[in-house]
Amino acid sequence: DGVIWFDGELVPWRDARIHVLTHTLHYGMGVFEGVRAYQTDAGASIFRLQDHTRRLFRSAKIMNMTMPYDAETLNEAQRMVVRANNLNEAYLRPMAFYGAEGMGLRADSLQTHVIVAAWEWPSYMTPEARELGIKVNTSSYTRHHVNISMCKAKANGNYINSMLALQEAIRNGCEEALLLDPEGYVAEGSGENVFIVSDGILYTPELTSCLDGITRNTVIELARECGYQVVEKRITRDEVYIADEAFFTGTAAEVLPIRMLDGRTIGAGRRGPVTKRLQELYFSVVQGRSAA
Ligand code: PLP
Repeated sequence: DGVIWFDGELVPWRDARIHVLTHTLHYGMGVFEGVRAYQTDAGASIFRLQDHTRRLFRSAKIMNMTMPYDAETLNEAQRMVVRANNLNEAYLRPMAFYGAEGMGLRADSLQTHVIVAAWEWPSYMTPEARELGIKVNTSSYTRHHVNISMCKAKANGNYINSMLALQEAIRNGCEEALLLDPEGYVAEGSGENVFIVSDGILYTPELTSCLDGITRNTVIELARECGYQVVEKRITRDEVYIADEAFFTGTAAEVLPIRMLDGRTIGAGRRGPVTKRLQELYFSVVQGRSAA
């Protein structure tokens, strides 16, 4: 049920189809966003819409894909999809992909198509996970950043390692994976940035092998506004093991405590006070109760 914005038109969900020879299905070159709308006093409000759209355009530029629409059209498409589907708390998925106009890797005959889908999505994490934290497994898959920077592009092809890492973590009895970069430093989760708190200071990996996350950015701003020092630097696994607190950030995960990494209990083994404070601030910002 519902409608999807597909190349400029709202089409019924079941009619938003693509051909089996769609280029992106074969070679994985495409870019996308994960965006969230929250219920606020003023109705459903899309959190940091312009920033997500800007990242989508930057991802497309890095991937050398020509976007057939401008940013304002895609902002409006996202607002339209939330309205047309009568959504309150929603997850939005804008995506740009190459069509079935050709199969060559040169991609010179290909057109970029754009969709925006959205669905009702109150919460990704259970209230218990938000409070007690999750168990995480360091992945045997690395977050590579060799040719295309992982930091600025949210590209379809980058998610193969994320999926393998998450499946591996679940097989190992955990809820999430922590991926390292090729040098062995902490990069990020399968779809989240990571922070640790040590002696009252927040640390998060610098932008060399993790996505430039919009939640990461929001949390850095909120933490600094509260007077915390936030340091972006390379982090080792050991530093996570001995941290007082650790948490993930992401549009889906929001601010999610990590209670254990590779069988080592982190801090008190549940959400710590800094994580709790940032979680509360984050929720009040997304729900429009204070400014980010
Ligand atoms: N890292 C990866 C690999 C992601 O896919 C995401 C989700 O978009 C994030 C981090 C968190 O980014 P954001 O806070 O912009 O959702």
